[in-house]
Amino acid sequence: MSEKPLIGITPDYSYEKRRFKISEDYTNAITKAGGVPVLLIPGEDFPEFIDGLLFSGGGDINPLLFGEEPIWENGEISPLRDSYELALCKEALARDIPLLGICRGMQIMNIAAGGGIYQDIAVQTGTTLKHSQQAPRPCGTHSVIPAEGSLLSRLWQAEKIIVNSVHHQAVSTLGNGMRVAAQSPDGLTEAIEGAEKSFVLGVQWHPEAMEAKEQDALFAHFVQAAAHYRERRRMP
Ligand code: MN
Repeated sequence: MSEKPLIGITPDYSYEKRRFKISEDYTNAITKAGGVPVLLIPGEDFPEFIDGLLFSGGGDINPLLFGEEPIWENGEISPLRDSYELALCKEALARDIPLLGICRGMQIMNIAAGGGIYQDIAVQTGTTLKHSQQAPRPCGTHSVIPAEGSLLSRLWQAEKIIVNSVHHQAVSTLGNGMRVAAQSPDGLTEAIEGAEKSFVLGVQWHPEAMEAKEQDALFAHFVQAAAHYRERRRMP
């Protein structure tokens, strides 16, 4: 068995094609950071073998799951992903398994912790900052400011970083134990972290699609936390 940490990744699902799918950007980022990516197919049992868990990006989340009726701007939802990922995330949070949530994945983490999201930021917050960029994914288009004392501020040692942005939803009320790790200049939450957890980080941008040392550092830190978890749980 590999000594490298196993990182479970939740894939997207197409009802039309009856297929699971994942961008190789996610698996490449994990491999590059020293982990072994493993795709998780929805099922009843918790994947006991994982040392870390990456919730990937995707479509919208059913608003009924965070106590709201859907507005017109809410997009396509995936009941299969919603129920599997929420159950998985709740259990992973309880076990303090290292978690990285990207885009939709960050929103899933926040909802699993009892928080909420904006169904559409343009309509519900009135922000005019362009969060649905018309530029290639590797290209950053807006800045984020790490919160003081946050994991991102320690990791980056920078006042702001430029990130890509392909979302129309975002975290609204924080879940229990979550705190803001970074904001965009319009005050929107762009990253969250688990205050009392060994490594729980959610980012609204797509670090896996960017070629930047700051984003590589994020994956390296995550995989390192997974390696520590692997050691911890193998102790007699
Ligand atoms: Mn954004």
